[in-house]
Amino acid sequence: FEYAAPANEPVLSYAPGSPERAALKKQLAAFKAEVADIPMYIGGKEVRTGKTVDLRPPHEISHKLGHFHMGDASHVKEAIAAALQAREKWAAMDWEQRAGIFLRAAELLASKYRYHINAATMLGQSKNPYQAEIDSACELIDFLRFNVHYLSQIYRQQPISSPGVHNRVEYRPLEGFVLAVTPFNFTAIAGNLPASAAMCGNVVVWKPANTQVFAAQIFMKVMIEAGLPAGVINLVYAEGPVVGDVCFADPHFAGIHFTGSTGVFQTMWKTIGENIHKYKTYPRIVGETGGKDFVLVHKSADVDIAAIALARGAFEYQGQKCSAASRAYLPSNLADQIKSKLLTELKTMKMGTTEDFSNFINAVIDERSFDKIARYIDNAKKDPAVKILAGGNYDKSKGYFIEPTVIETTDPKYVTMCEEIFGPVLTIHVYDAEKFEETIQLVDSTSAYALTGSIIAQDRYAIELATQKLVNSAGNFYINDKPTGAVVGQQPFGGARASGTNDKAGSMLNLYRWLSARSIKETF
Ligand code: GLU
Repeated sequence: FEYAAPANEPVLSYAPGSPERAALKKQLAAFKAEVADIPMYIGGKEVRTGKTVDLRPPHEISHKLGHFHMGDASHVKEAIAAALQAREKWAAMDWEQRAGIFLRAAELLASKYRYHINAATMLGQSKNPYQAEIDSACELIDFLRFNVHYLSQIYRQQPISSPGVHNRVEYRPLEGFVLAVTPFNFTAIAGNLPASAAMCGNVVVWKPANTQVFAAQIFMKVMIEAGLPAGVINLVYAEGPVVGDVCFADPHFAGIHFTGSTGVFQTMWKTIGENIHKYKTYPRIVGETGGKDFVLVHKSADVDIAAIALARGAFEYQGQKCSAASRAYLPSNLADQIKSKLLTELKTMKMGTTEDFSNFINAVIDERSFDKIARYIDNAKKDPAVKILAGGNYDKSKGYFIEPTVIETTDPKYVTMCEEIFGPVLTIHVYDAEKFEETIQLVDSTSAYALTGSIIAQDRYAIELATQKLVNSAGNFYINDKPTGAVVGQQPFGGARASGTNDKAGSMLNLYRWLSARSIKETF
């Protein structure tokens, strides 16, 4: 069947006095009033080990939201066994039946569980209600619906036949199981990585980041309510290396769907390579692995567009997006105006808990992140080549709060221009406005990553030049906009170089990776 292209899920505004705001507040209060006991889900069963890890809102570490039950190698093995047991029936199920489950999950998220998934993201990952609405509810719903649409198109693609010969292609799932490893920063990615592989008929072992478990388990429960058969997706919590050791040593390992750090992805790739002789089939390796995303401003730019792109691009969700603007190149003729407008904009961004909806900035995810980001800021404070233009303060007494920080450096290769910080730190370099071409070169050669980037300019030749010369510098390239906030169905998302395998999330390019085609020729 063909499932027509859906519209994007409308974004709720949670305006003061609206029933949506009241409902979301009620759900936040309900989550805070209880201590959740969160099991693993293996083979359709809830598994509790008694070895628990506490979950606390990053902005209010004195409050216990709940705990989850930590597994070990034996649970990962059980999850693989459960997945393999479910495989045959799931792979053979009519595609229409499989699609129905994911479309039902999208409806459940859009209506019955929207506030649950958003409130869980707000409390568990310290994301403000508007970012949660966009990055959790709507994006996840979009991933589910659009992927059904794309997959229905893939299944229809057939080769030509001729009189006496009938050719067809069967889009089979991979022969084995897929491991999905998901990051803390997007609940939508958490759901999409296991769901997109499963939609194609694969069975999945899903390991979320510990800091994401609160929202992840809600998606799992939604999938179960939507009718996902036992064992198709198995949600396990265990140390990353333990999950890797067990999965990568298994002969049925058929693919990994990963979003996380470059270092972890490279280690996984190496281990998979070392084990290659063990596998029945070559595993698919799909990863999105970070960025050091640029905003290049031309001397013809609109100052307001540039300042807003920087403020929003760098500091939405405390800069904890792979796509976050983290290095800016400002032309000497406009730099002062842009900086001043940016600093004015930052003054409007209040910082605090996610339960107060007027806060734009919340906490960073955990103490490890906090300490790492604080170290970059401390080193910048000591460096004579660097000025702190805004922020620079941090405090972890109640939660992991770091002020939106803007650094200016005269050294375009200063460490914070090159390394991914994954926090609310933007570094600015002012360049000679007449040296645009040289600066394009600099943008391309400064970072190993190539995820997102923006050119801000009115001059069409400048836009054209940047678009051409930065062809490999970003998988998602923006003209006169911030480099974050790709929308499913509109801007397929992903980057190459150190940013990943560029198998665009929410597109056919991604879904092809979870399919292994068989060509069948019949002669008469
Ligand atoms: N898709 C997100 C965006 O466009 C970023 C995803 C990520 O951080 O991994 O902002």
